[in-house]
Formats: sequence, structure tokens, C-alpha cells
Amino acid sequence: MRWPLGVGDPPEPADPFHLLHLIRDVGSTLAQLREHRVQVAAPEVEHALPVGGSEVADAEHAFPSNNLPAGRADVLHRPPGLLLVRMVAMTTSAHDMSLAQVVAVLDGFYPPETAASWDQVGLVTGDPAQPVRRVHFAVDPTRAVVDEAVEAGADLLVTHHPLLLRGVHSVATTTAKGAVVTSAVVADLAIYCAHTNADIARPGVNDALAAAAGLPDDCAPLGMEDGQPIGRVGRLPEAVTLREFATRLADALPATPVGVRVAGDPSALVQTVALMGGAGDDRFGDVRAHGADVYVTADLRHHPALEAREEAGDGPPYLIDAGHYATEQLWLAAAASRLAEALQARIVTHVSDLRTDPWDFTVGRPTPDRTPQYSRSSRES
Ligand SMILES: [Zn+2]
Repeated sequence: MRWPLGVGDPPEPADPFHLLHLIRDVGSTLAQLREHRVQVAAPEVEHALPVGGSEVADAEHAFPSNNLPAGRADVLHRPPGLLLVRMVAMTTSAHDMSLAQVVAVLDGFYPPETAASWDQVGLVTGDPAQPVRRVHFAVDPTRAVVDEAVEAGADLLVTHHPLLLRGVHSVATTTAKGAVVTSAVVADLAIYCAHTNADIARPGVNDALAAAAGLPDDCAPLGMEDGQPIGRVGRLPEAVTLREFATRLADALPATPVGVRVAGDPSALVQTVALMGGAGDDRFGDVRAHGADVYVTADLRHHPALEAREEAGDGPPYLIDAGHYATEQLWLAAAASRLAEALQARIVTHVSDLRTDPWDFTVGRPTPDRTPQYSRSSRES
């Protein structure tokens, strides 16, 4: 499609896109666009554009790989120091997906009825009729994540963890949750959560973790909850030492300041791996029932973890606490590309750059590798 060019060209009413704002101040233009909630092409696209092209078609041709759906607003530099902005109309065009359409696809990936009975999943904010062109993915709907999504021009934020799990009586900005809800509503940002329904889905959160652990695609469920299969168990192609397995896993997961904690003999061989992204210290019975050599999960509390190690008599199953955020974060990219593929690139997806692991740093002396407290005291040797 070719677009008319020139100063003062009027928008064509018959066209879903209003064309041609030729403005002299780049900064104010971007600000105005944001004020009017118009999507602006990503900065890297701006920089990729050839300066001085005489046809918009040239510019479109310059970034075919950026996967921008037809009709997105783009910023085109024009000399001398001018900026040509091609704007998306504020009405939904035939090219736009509605929030309802995108949610229907997400619900198909992660059926809400498969979520745990205590969970709260699905749409938190948003109007099903609103257009969705840019979708942001994050583990947690924190204030910083919502700010990031709004800054990125997202229309929809998909998170793993629910925003409102317990009763809420106010969404005033006087609380963190209220500020998140208010920010999202003010910015027309829809929020959608896929939590335990994404944990159990195939492919879902635990499949992304299983892939990071080097397990094949055909892992079995670790256990059942509310009639749904949860967690995964699978076998590595060959046995490796616990240290080697944990090191490979740590390399495959996003880094966290707390690192990966391991309980067990670092030289012991492991092959059967049980795993559950997020908090999983209530599943030791399932882990033992599967004869797993090692259990990868997060949020391992002192008493359940110590009791599980005592029960194991210093042998398998060994334990790896890889961090709650880290064990769930890899799902984001998988979910984002699956959604983009399902919608045939009519949306743009982005995975949050923010690490929402609550911990920031560690201090103190690391202990020696192996000091099992329950079988013998290391001080005696
Ligand atoms: Zn979680």
C-alpha cells in the first residue's frame, strides 16, 4: 500500500489510518503521540529508517523484518530535522485484534477452568472491545512492570502471577496494588493473568522449565491437584553429576542474586528429574513416588526441605531451589512467541526486561560445598 506524502495532507476519511503529521520538533511529537495514546514504532525501527526517502513505501521496505502489523503508526525521519508521523486511527481498524479475540486465544492456551480452585486467573483490567496491537509479558504485575508496559505502548500485559488474589476493597493509589490497577486503567492497559492454568498447560510454565533442565518433551506429570496434572518428571539423556546438572540448569535460567541452592552430594549421579516451577515444597511425596534423583523447584522452606533430606538418608532425591522468579520466567518468551504465531503476527509481543525476583544482593561467607548437618557434623572431621 502506498501513502500520500506532503505537508498538510488531510487524513482520508475512508482510510482507517490518519496520515501525515509533519512536525518540526521530534520530542514534542513523541510526547504528543503518547498523550494521544498512539503507538510509535520502536526506536530501533526509527534508527533503521533511511533519512531522505521520498516515498513511505521506501521506509516500509526498510524494515520488513520488524514484524509490525499493517497499520501500526510509524515515525519517519525527514530532512531537514523534520519528522513525518504515520498514525494509526484511534478507532479499531479491520487490521486490529480486539482484546476479546486475544483473550480467547490465551484462554485456549491456558483454559481458566483448569486453574486451581484457590487461584484467580483471566482478565483483571480492560475492555473486551479495545484494540490490542502490542502485548507485554512479565512474571509479576508490579508497578514497575506496568510502567514498563505503558512506556512500551502495550495494550495488554500478560502476567503469570495474579494481581488480585485476595479480597480487595479499594484500588486507590494509596496501596501498591491500587496504584497498579489505577495506572493500568488510566493507560488503557488490559491485564491478563495465566497462573496455575499456565503451570499445568502443555506447553506451559513447567515445560519451559523442563526444557531448561535438559529434559525431553515427553515428561510425565509429577502429581495431581484439583484433578489436574501438575509438575513434570523426566529422564535426562544420560546421568550427570548433581553439580553438573545444577550448573547447566543455572546457566539456562535467568540469573538471580541469590543463585541456585543445592542439597546433596555434588558428585552423586542424577538422571530422573522431577520439577515444579514456583513454590513446590509440598510435593516431596510425589517426588519420592517417582523415584526421582533430583527435584527442581523453588521457595523451599527450612523444615520441609530438611525433613525431606533426612527422609532421603543423605541420598536421592536431592533438592535444587532455583528461585521462584527464575523457574517461571522462561515461560514468558515461549508464551509470547506462541501467541504471536497464533495471531499471525497481527500483534507485536515483548517480554519484560525487569527482574521481579524480590531479592537484590547477598552478603556473608559462602559455606563449603558439603556440610550435611543431619548425618554428621563437619566440625568433627
Ligand atoms: Zn509462581
